[in-house]
Amino acid sequence: ATPTSIMVGTGRAAELGVLFRKGEALQALRSVEIVALDKTGTLTIGRPVLTDLETALGFDSDEVLSLVAAVEAHSEHPIAEAILTAAKERGLQIPPTDNFEASPGFGIKADVGGRTVHVGADRYMAKLGIDFGPLGVDAWRLGSEGKTPLYAAVDGHLAAIIAVADPIRETTPAAIDALHSLGLKVAMITGDNRATAEAVARQLGIDEVVAEVLPEGKVEALKSLRKDGRAAAFVGDGINDAPALAEADVGIAIGTGTDVAIETADVVLMSGDLRGVVNAIALSRATIRNIK
Ligand code: ADP
Ligand code: MG
Repeated sequence: ATPTSIMVGTGRAAELGVLFRKGEALQALRSVEIVALDKTGTLTIGRPVLTDLETALGFDSDEVLSLVAAVEAHSEHPIAEAILTAAKERGLQIPPTDNFEASPGFGIKADVGGRTVHVGADRYMAKLGIDFGPLGVDAWRLGSEGKTPLYAAVDGHLAAIIAVADPIRETTPAAIDALHSLGLKVAMITGDNRATAEAVARQLGIDEVVAEVLPEGKVEALKSLRKDGRAAAFVGDGINDAPALAEADVGIAIGTGTDVAIETADVVLMSGDLRGVVNAIALSRATIRNIK
């Protein structure tokens, strides 16, 4: 490609809300065969809301929610906001805590009024040796509805299953369809549990899913999708996404995402509208074709 044609191409992209931080990305995008996307905050809006709370025998729903909210008050995860909002809506008191600890990709814990409270994924409970009991079945059902089930334990006993749901961005289905029309494969990479990830992927017609990926595992997940030498673009918004954005043939960040993601990406979408990815690829193909 000539420098002029790349300038024209990137200029046109900017008009469409797609910022090329590196001119080479316009050329690299043309050979991309698979587009892998982060789920939370990329395919979805990234602001989950609490949808379900089912308590184990002997636990009161408001009591468990206030204990869980107390622990979540220390977390930056979007799940924390969902739980704190629900607790406030119910007018619950948030008790003080000690000894807060986060296990990234697993969950969080703290001591609340002499009791130890753990909140997190099923793998967190498994690591702690806490038995799900009959609520495990409900968790599976919630996951198959595309919700993220979380487990809350008090003093080592399962107290409740809580589900949060993160709405899919309004523009995401059209973006996925358009990527398919361009002949591309679409994949999802997520730390969320398998049932939830697969339900969301099924809804959107996503071809490949890599779920239950630990925060440091996104690069490996991306490599597994490129195994046949397919060139891959990766789209993400979070701090955890930065290594995969750097590793991808083309890293694309959501402009409303974290600074680290934006600084690492080759391409930045001005909004969360994933049709920007489609525009970028279409433009890359048109630009490179014109100068051949
Ligand atoms: P993602 O951003 O894709 O959800 P994370 O690695 O941040 O991936 O989290 C993976 C899983 O760990 C979450 O789906 C949740 O089950 C659990 N988890 C992480 N942080 C929290 C938290 N603050 N409260 C409850 N669960 C959490
Ligand atoms: Mg994300």
